[in-house]
Amino acid sequence: MNATEGSAAPGARGAELADALAVVEDRIVAACAGAGRAREEVTLVVVTKFFPASDVRLLLDLGVRDVGESRAREATEKFEDEVLLRHRQRMPGVDALTAHFIGQVQTNKAAAVVAWADVIHSVDRPRLVRALDRAAGAAGRSPRVLVQVALGVESGGQDGRAGVRPEDADALADAIASCEHLVLAGVMAVAPRDGDPDVAFGRLAEVSRGIRERHREATWVSAGMSGDLEEAVRRGATHLRVGSAILGSRPTLR
Ligand SMILES: *Cc1c(COP(=O)(O)O)cnc(C)c1O
Repeated sequence: MNATEGSAAPGARGAELADALAVVEDRIVAACAGAGRAREEVTLVVVTKFFPASDVRLLLDLGVRDVGESRAREATEKFEDEVLLRHRQRMPGVDALTAHFIGQVQTNKAAAVVAWADVIHSVDRPRLVRALDRAAGAAGRSPRVLVQVALGVESGGQDGRAGVRPEDADALADAIASCEHLVLAGVMAVAPRDGDPDVAFGRLAEVSRGIRERHREATWVSAGMSGDLEEAVRRGATHLRVGSAILGSRPTLR
């Protein structure tokens, strides 16, 4: 089922999401056990792009507290949903919803993203850092920010993914850390399409270690999606971004 099919009754959709979430939770538990890590070390961010606010509400009812979006305009509209707004604004009596932005940001959309994002995973250039810092200052917000690292660059070509080259990650982290309104939280990556995710996430772990030598607080490693969350957990991911394994397949763009 995808975002445009509204045929199932809400109860059926809730049950479908509950089942899929349980399967993913089992995978995370098993991956943590296999890696000798505590389940609490890993945060599941459920990626809801292309799916409606009603699905996010159902996920909240199922205990999800971290939601990821990758398309700025879609997310801005979705998070205006009155129930989600109450959770995002941490109104008394509701659990806080943490909104993650995981997509590519155009510099001129920085203010729109900063308006709702608590965490921005996909920062990969100095100009964007400056734009986000300015926007956050103007909005009175201080989002956590991750350095997006392009993996597979050394092994031949950008492969169309965003991200800073691994050797430039330290400098970008320094730039973020020096901003008044941004909080450097760590690194993020998407495994290259044609590479081994285990190798890629191992490289990401190295980049993370390098940054942590200079910025001890930058402990987050955002890696792992529906198809490679096990490799990510093994290589030290602290945040998994899982979409289709929970919500179903999306329409294919790109
Ligand atoms: C869509 C998306 C995800 C989720 O991918 P799935 O394969 O559906 O789990 C994770 N990270 C980023 C950056 C994405 O754009």
